[in-house]
Amino acid sequence: MADKLTAVKGMNDILPPESARWEALETQVREVMRLHAYRNIRTPIVEPTALFVRGLGEVTDIVEKEMYSFEDRLNGEQLTLRPESTAGVVRAVVEHNLLYEGGKRLYYMGPMFRHERPQRGRYRQFHQIGAEALGFGGPEVDAELILLACALWQAIGLQDVRLELNSLGQPPERAQHRAALITYFEQHADQLDEDAKRRLHSNPLRILDSKNPAMKALNEAAPKLLDFLGEESLAHFNAVCAILDANGVAYSINPRLVRGMDYYNLTVFEFITERLGSQGTVCGGGRYDYLIGEIGGKHAPAVGWALGVERVLELLKEQGEAMTEVAPDAYAIIPDAASLPIVSPVLQSLRRMGVSVHMHAPADSADGMGSMKSQFKKADASGARYALIFGADELAQHQVTVKALRDGEGAQQTHALAQMADWGHRLQSTL
Ligand code: ATP
Ligand code: MG
Repeated sequence: MADKLTAVKGMNDILPPESARWEALETQVREVMRLHAYRNIRTPIVEPTALFVRGLGEVTDIVEKEMYSFEDRLNGEQLTLRPESTAGVVRAVVEHNLLYEGGKRLYYMGPMFRHERPQRGRYRQFHQIGAEALGFGGPEVDAELILLACALWQAIGLQDVRLELNSLGQPPERAQHRAALITYFEQHADQLDEDAKRRLHSNPLRILDSKNPAMKALNEAAPKLLDFLGEESLAHFNAVCAILDANGVAYSINPRLVRGMDYYNLTVFEFITERLGSQGTVCGGGRYDYLIGEIGGKHAPAVGWALGVERVLELLKEQGEAMTEVAPDAYAIIPDAASLPIVSPVLQSLRRMGVSVHMHAPADSADGMGSMKSQFKKADASGARYALIFGADELAQHQVTVKALRDGEGAQQTHALAQMADWGHRLQSTL
């Protein structure tokens, strides 16, 4: 046998039965998005590197050290596996002039790539679900997006997340705060770690986003952006809070919340849990009114968020979420392969009725279909509610035996093959 190949470190296979939890989450997401009138967008996984350098900012964790970038072997183009999707969505919106007739509400789901140290809740290929509202400047849309996230938590039964809010104000307010921040950190230069020293003059706000516990006290006492906000920024922030209050959404204001990308302004927020250790941010987002302009579009405001699918599913598991059973409704026991031309159309008619059918099949057809006993064992192990027994005696009379494997265990009935679709229809209405 050849040497085994394994998955790339930090990139995971999502296998059944675990994958059923992913599908269930995705189904809920589609429904919640539909209810809020957000429509699906799918952008490429590979984008020009320049999109992220320009979009996210040069002095950010992602651009500085987390991107999977490579040169196209054929034409030398600089490309990157997307580390997040907002920049790609904005590129697509600009490229296809989607804001031509007004704002757009969009959502996406898919894999993202960041070269980080793999640990619980932090992977190199991970998955995000995100919502973006582009071309809307008012606080009601910031609030709508937060309420959308809350509706999703409710739909999937996610508890134990709290909402933190902050406002990053507008560029002139940020500039004033930045000056105050530099003065403050310069006064405490001896306490800065390497990252902070490097960022002191290039991007001091980023220092506040540090994950280094040694920087925590220093960061907590740093000048707060909220204290630099003018009347308009404050009014926007207060309007978001008022809508959340009216909807009974609890939140706390965290003046040190800055988020990892440079593109944010005004409202920023995170949903955080204490139950996943230091990977506690489940969802994060905010307003990015200047990104569309920076990516070459005509200036238009926008706001959005992204959640980490692995972290959400992990938290649901922490909460003791029951594993969704994915068993077929029926298992077809087929003693003789020669009967397949008769059996197969019956199975298809059941499936058309919405009944899920697992067809018995041997690993090697040279061995025949296997004994009835071994087929029954497999039917039981599959978790199916019914075994459909296509034995020679039954088939000679154009019939099949239906045996209950769970409720009313052992009870059996014969049905005409031609009536099986009706049986399926009746069963489907009880599922
Ligand atoms: P963190 O502070 O945990 O590094 P972040 O600020 O880099 O997160 P965002 O870029 O805002 O995260 O991405 C939104 C969400 O995507 C995060 O809140 C998190 O749930 C998830 N996420 C980010 N990076 C990873 C990763 N490497 N593995 C798994 N999930 C991730
Ligand atoms: Mg990160």
